[in-house]
Amino acid sequence: MKTAKTLLVLMVTLSIIVFAAGCSRNSQRVPAEDDRHSLKIYTTFYPIYDFTKKIVGDDVQVENLIPAGVEPHDFELSPKQAAKIYDGDIFIFLGESMEPWAKKMAQDLDKKGVTVIEAGKGLIENDDPHIWLDPVLAGKMAKNIYKGLVYVDEDHEPDYNKNITALTRKLDELDKSLSQIASGSMRKDIVTSHGFLGYVARRYGFNQMAITGLSPQEEPSTKKMAELIKFCTDKDIKYIFTEPGENSKLTETLARDTGAKILELNPLGTLRTDEIKAGEDYFSIMEKNLEALKTALGHKQ
Ligand SMILES: [Zn+2]
Repeated sequence: MKTAKTLLVLMVTLSIIVFAAGCSRNSQRVPAEDDRHSLKIYTTFYPIYDFTKKIVGDDVQVENLIPAGVEPHDFELSPKQAAKIYDGDIFIFLGESMEPWAKKMAQDLDKKGVTVIEAGKGLIENDDPHIWLDPVLAGKMAKNIYKGLVYVDEDHEPDYNKNITALTRKLDELDKSLSQIASGSMRKDIVTSHGFLGYVARRYGFNQMAITGLSPQEEPSTKKMAELIKFCTDKDIKYIFTEPGENSKLTETLARDTGAKILELNPLGTLRTDEIKAGEDYFSIMEKNLEALKTALGHKQ
């Protein structure tokens, strides 16, 4: 009898785990029909914030934890900021490779009644967090956020559904544009400051060479710099991508040594306050990124 009961508990637990894959919920926190406006959501960095905001709409309070203009890789949350998350209803992060601190907090947050959504769950490969720059993976990331939101607040599923449909449509357009750029370009090789275009390169058939590693903090060795110079010379690289706010000494050195020009490409890890004030968002910045890609790849207009 006892074994049967244990088995039943186990089965119920398992089915809850399966159902809650990608997100978790504490049932006490489900908001009632009329208190949607009191929903408080915390997100970690810009693309997660922007997509969440686009799905929930203007009525819901969404706060981004990593400040505007701050590089999100290796960001350390202050204890005061970490404490704030416990006052929220939902906490959304990408995954361990981008926010290891968030992954550590997830279990405890869940225990304390905060729903945790891991937006990059099942999407991140080889510890490369930059899925948001690939429109196809970005769409799946948005879907993970959407599923978590509906799980907490199913009464507003029609609104969320309408919004994610619009978001997905725009991401599909971006995907088409990137395919067109890939098929209409003379070049296939790109050099980036840090390795943020790995997924994009793979999907659209580019060849990415990054000056630093997956994070801007990973400095290249002298051997790596020599390889980069050889790559740029062999492939006749005309443009090297730099990113806003970057200490671009290495990029400048490489450009000088190879005769390439420097072009800005925004990895969208963060937006500056002035960009946010000017109404920029994921899509307006991606538009500029696509123009930069066209130039660097010698796209036939
Ligand atoms: Zn990055």
